[in-house]
Amino acid sequence: MLAVGIGNIAFAVLILVYMRSSTASAGLRTWMLARTVFGLTQLLAWARPQAGLPLLVAVESAGWVIGLTLEAAAYMRFFGYSRLQHRLVPAAGLGLLLAWASPLTGMAYEDLVAYVSLLLGGGAFTTGFLLVRSRLPDATALQRLIGVTDITCGATLIHFASLGITGLPVSDGNMLTGYVAGYLLLIVNGFGFILMSKQRDDARMERLATTDDLTGLLNRRAFFARAEAARLLALRQQQPIALLMLDIDHFKQLNDRFGHATGDEALVKFAATCNAALREHDILGRLGGEEFALALPGTDQDGALHAAERLRQGVAATRLLTCGNDYTMTVSIGLVVVDPGEDLPTALARADHALYDAKRNGRNRVEVSSAGWRRA
Ligand code: GH3
Ligand code: MG
Ligand code: MG
Repeated sequence: MLAVGIGNIAFAVLILVYMRSSTASAGLRTWMLARTVFGLTQLLAWARPQAGLPLLVAVESAGWVIGLTLEAAAYMRFFGYSRLQHRLVPAAGLGLLLAWASPLTGMAYEDLVAYVSLLLGGGAFTTGFLLVRSRLPDATALQRLIGVTDITCGATLIHFASLGITGLPVSDGNMLTGYVAGYLLLIVNGFGFILMSKQRDDARMERLATTDDLTGLLNRRAFFARAEAARLLALRQQQPIALLMLDIDHFKQLNDRFGHATGDEALVKFAATCNAALREHDILGRLGGEEFALALPGTDQDGALHAAERLRQGVAATRLLTCGNDYTMTVSIGLVVVDPGEDLPTALARADHALYDAKRNGRNRVEVSSAGWRRA
């Protein structure tokens, strides 16, 4: 108990220091509080027999209940179920009542340990199940590994607890596996929660740094990075890759006539329309203003022309509701197939030139740059 208690407090201190230097993700503060309460409770559980004060049993049981409640709240926040948190309050109240009433009903201390183990095991099992089954977009191998450990330790603790509750004899072996499961939970959940939070924070920062705020598309820098990686891969695999430059027609007019907010709405609709028409590995980015670029890996000129036409027609069919009266926008597109001998900026400059031709030839059309590479 002494070792586990010190371990929990060490985790809490680590997180406290970590939170001072970085923005903490949801649940981390609550989780730190849970660790502190668990740590103090475990130290108390270790010291209490020496002190011999019966009142301390009540304090200890309260510590277990509060620690469990805080830990459950931290996981709820992590999984995005914050709205369910208030349900924990009556559950914690009931837990406290039962824990405090237990000495009056003559409940032995061992029974209390068994019930706490049951709750801990149940909580770990549920958390593990959620982590393994997680449909969160940022679910990772780390989350699954922690999930599997939680399920195993949770099941072991439940088994250990059920022996105590049903009054079956608890062998030394059972005792040992129970303690090992509890200890493993502390280590895996301790490091695990910190790592999962860190992973999520990193992913959020990465998203912020690579995403265009308004449309949610890749920003200019991220588009160049992703398109360059795709170009190099295509080159290695001797696959074609097409590049498209897209520019909304008469966008200034739309802004002037209906206002900037409507212009923004048009940009969002445009992005959504394109996204809906593209495949998963196509790379679409907003280069700035009403200019967009698209990389189509593994696509030759015919395929890219097909895709460009689909986009052009899709945009022309999209209604801009705030403009009323069936107002639609159009887009001009310049298309190239990247030549194996040219770099990305050169290919994009060619696409831009083709886009200029599309504007000059009347807008709402696709133009292909003639010097494109075709597969032999
Ligand atoms: P063209 O058909 O030749 O492309 O004409 P255009 O009016 O679309 O082209 P131009 O480049 O002259 O105008 C682009 C306009 O896009 C000007 C600028 O005010 C507007 N714009 C740029 N960024 C944003 C934005 O984030 N939101 C809104 N609403 N407008 C923007
Ligand atoms: Mg334009
Ligand atoms: Mg423009």
